Amino acid sequence: MGIIDHAKDIAELIKKYNDVELYQKIIDLRDEIFELRENNLNLKGKIKALKKEKKINEKIVFEKPYYWIKDGEKKDGPYCQKCFDDNKKLIRLQERKNGHWYCLVCKNGVIDSSCKAINRVHNGGSWMSS
Ligand SMILES: [Zn+2]
Repeated sequence: MGIIDHAKDIAELIKKYNDVELYQKIIDLRDEIFELRENNLNLKGKIKALKKEKKINEKIVFEKPYYWIKDGEKKDGPYCQKCFDDNKKLIRLQERKNGHWYCLVCKNGVIDSSCKAINRVHNGGSWMSS
């Protein structure tokens, strides 16, 4: 039985005594329990989001002009710098052509001539020249 059910049971018991003031106090108490439970759920959600953010912050690396997620030997990305700095969103950049990347969300374009070499190593040689 949950705390709300307990409060309901107590309210029902008190009703029998026809004490309006006491009954109202129990109803107020029940409402406060509702509110506390809601706040608790919100806090749990915030803690979960903070843990996720912390995990990302430990792995994210800025290599001009974009971000990468580094996990040991693994490297994932690149990710949009603007989107991450603005609202902590990891948006994968799309490659348009050699060294030209763009973000589907903020439409920001990035040019980097060295990304060709990084990409070739990262994808095990799957990069194709035009
Ligand atoms: Zn973006």
